[in-house]
Amino acid sequence: MNAKLSVDFDNSFARLGERFYTRQLPEPVSAPGLIRINSALAIHLGFDPNWLESKTGLEFIAGNCIPAGADPLATVYAGHQFGNWNPLLGDGRAVLLGEVIAVDGLRFDIQLKGSGRTPYSRGGDGRAPLGPVLREYIVSEAMAALVVPTTRALAAVTTGENVMREGPLPGAVLARVAQSHIRFGTIQFFAASQDISALRFLAEHAIQRHYPEAAKTDNPVRAMLDGVVEHQASLIARWQLLGFIHGVMNTDNMLLSGETIDYGPCAFMDKYDPGTVFSSIDQGGRYSYRNQPHIAHWNLSVLAQALLPLLSGDRDRAISSAQAAIDAFPDLFLAAYQHGMRRKLGLTQSRADDEILIRDLLTLMQEEGTDFTLTFRRLSDLADPGHASNGGVELIFDLPVTFNPWLERWQQRLRNDPQDSETRQADMYVVNPVYIPRNHLLEEVISAAVTQQDFGPFHTLVDVLARPGKFDKNRARYAMPPRPGEVVKQTFCGT
Ligand code: AMP
Ligand code: MG
Repeated sequence: MNAKLSVDFDNSFARLGERFYTRQLPEPVSAPGLIRINSALAIHLGFDPNWLESKTGLEFIAGNCIPAGADPLATVYAGHQFGNWNPLLGDGRAVLLGEVIAVDGLRFDIQLKGSGRTPYSRGGDGRAPLGPVLREYIVSEAMAALVVPTTRALAAVTTGENVMREGPLPGAVLARVAQSHIRFGTIQFFAASQDISALRFLAEHAIQRHYPEAAKTDNPVRAMLDGVVEHQASLIARWQLLGFIHGVMNTDNMLLSGETIDYGPCAFMDKYDPGTVFSSIDQGGRYSYRNQPHIAHWNLSVLAQALLPLLSGDRDRAISSAQAAIDAFPDLFLAAYQHGMRRKLGLTQSRADDEILIRDLLTLMQEEGTDFTLTFRRLSDLADPGHASNGGVELIFDLPVTFNPWLERWQQRLRNDPQDSETRQADMYVVNPVYIPRNHLLEEVISAAVTQQDFGPFHTLVDVLARPGKFDKNRARYAMPPRPGEVVKQTFCGT
């Protein structure tokens, strides 16, 4: 066996010092079993996929053996959960092993999730059931394939042990990859404890890691805040354009890097309804589809508030600087959203009444309850009907006749756009995917794995979602909306 761990760990977060974390080894498990290795991501990060699949590799993912150079720790953070301040959170069921430098020179955290208790576990067991691990694997990798900034899944293993929830469930560990795990709540923790030197140290670390250009400006912290605002605006626009509902946009679930994190109760919409809420714990609809931009703005204002001591020595100046930074969000979001919507409709140029065209389409979709994803996919077919045979979904979906007057307006508008129809359609197929991780499919493959130890459906779904824009008629069922009996109305954090 010459397969071996081929990466060196670095631990820049560990070097920040022990105010920021507690050193914590993962708790070993009895019998690590392979679920899946993400070979392409492994290679990108410099891991040998054969080694990861070996017995030692599985022990590494399960947290049973710590590679040389890693420095496992649980980070501390705070956060607003459903608007309520929680002064002490932290990694309660995860440890950060360290960082690796990918082949493109970028630095990535390797975190084990479901790795046992930590000082931040409160009443929890620090473990993860198999279902939520599979869910996060599938949805985070689907998001990556949809070109949404996101944490990734490097690998998942079963533990050979049960975790107790309503009843016993098989346990699992997910190896999660992120540009970093620095949350809005990490900044909030040090602001709330008025440890300004730690706050400054953390901000400098985040600047170096995620916003190196900011370091060259007169006010690096302000420049970083501007960067975070921009990243969030474009991230939330991507979510809206795909019908993705995060479900738990607490400030501890927002990363400074601008990646999507925490795939607990998230879900993609089937029928278009902007009021959609899936999470069982979101009673008031705080994190509904239509609220996501407002919540992101609110979260940013909380972050800006926490950064006040670093923005200026003068309190009034700090406040006006913070205000200016977060005031940029609505326009940045709208610009990203409208640009994205125009692309979804095949428009390369912007015209004054495009907004009305978009609004009327969404109104129709809501009135008719059409499937969000397939509506845009069908429009892509209609953008060049002669060539749609390669991607057309007419076998499984068509627009109701009530769309005809709108379709005529849209066709008219397309004639005023310079792009030729073949290129237009190819571009539309890229931004209007045919495969998304629909809830009923997730439930189906998770149930097969959990109740019958059959991981085949999980693997097939991961493979299908890796190519979301290319329709394969043999895999049409993965593109179809749920039948009435299959509709999933609620999702659960599954912790
Ligand atoms: P989440 O709802 O996933 O954002 O988690 C909120 C907080 O609860 C975080 O501090 C988690 O680390 C902690 N937590 C969630 N599940 C568990 C668990 N099974 N054991 C210990 N801590 C947990
Ligand atoms: Mg979380």
